[in-house]
Amino acid sequence: MSSILNADLHCHSLVSDGTLTPEALAARASANGVELWALTDHDEIGGQHRAAAAARAQGMKYLTGTEISITFAGQTVHIVGLGFDADDPRMQQGLQQTRGGRGQRAMEMSDSLARVGIKGAYEGALKYVSNPELISRTHFARFLVEAGVCRETNEVFRKYLTEGKPGFVPHRWASLSDAVSWITQAGGVAVIAHPARYSFSANEEYALFSEFKTHGGQGVEVVTGSHTAAEYVRYAEMAREFGLAASRGSDFHCPEESRTDLGTLPFLPGELTPVWELLADRIQ
Ligand code: AMP
Ligand code: MN
Ligand code: MN
Ligand code: MN
Repeated sequence: MSSILNADLHCHSLVSDGTLTPEALAARASANGVELWALTDHDEIGGQHRAAAAARAQGMKYLTGTEISITFAGQTVHIVGLGFDADDPRMQQGLQQTRGGRGQRAMEMSDSLARVGIKGAYEGALKYVSNPELISRTHFARFLVEAGVCRETNEVFRKYLTEGKPGFVPHRWASLSDAVSWITQAGGVAVIAHPARYSFSANEEYALFSEFKTHGGQGVEVVTGSHTAAEYVRYAEMAREFGLAASRGSDFHCPEESRTDLGTLPFLPGELTPVWELLADRIQ
């Protein structure tokens, strides 16, 4: 398959911090012309069988997916896994461990928001949570919009939920090597998600890419809803420099919040190896 394919290999359902069911996402992806789809819920693969069945019902090809939170050089980085066995026990255990600290972190976030006068954030965020193991900053953001603290979720992140802001609680996620090995030993391909989103120095970014390669990582998101057109070019160069395949995905979460809809991004630059070429035998 060539790079001219409407593949959307990054989005979220209510199994993590999206608002749509896997079935509604599949219908939306298909209506937007997606040919190859992956649902990549944060730290969770509980929606994979539903998503694969929904893709089949819509006549789309499917790759299993997830987006694993890791800590690298003091920052949270996301590693997308594609095409792994969704029933792999080591992967399931690893992800369960990763989800583990979220409840405690959420209570600490709520306490720190209370100190700046925002009461009841834990209970408020919980109303938006479908998967009790996956309370995320996104759910807090939705509650703070509901409570009238901010007009939109982006503003909540900017003012409250990012490093140095009153509702931010640092958290230690999985390691890079764990995330890559869970994915690869389950037959999948690991992909660095939205690399332009991190605030690494050039040396730290180089270290991320080279350590990722050393651990067996094979892909990087080039065309994503989180990148500008200039960043497509920059990370296409990085893909070439590090010998990584390129991925494409909207990172769609919610019709009201996401600026990029499923299947609407530009195609991958032609001269790159698309990640789906490495996964031809894993496509369902
Ligand atoms: P968590 O895994 O709980 O730390 O939450 C991370 C999620 O918050 C990401 O996957 C995004 O969905 C969302 N997020 C992070 N930064 C922003 C932002 N600046 N604006 C909107 N959503 C964001
Ligand atoms: Mn998210
Ligand atoms: Mn992400
Ligand atoms: Mn995502």
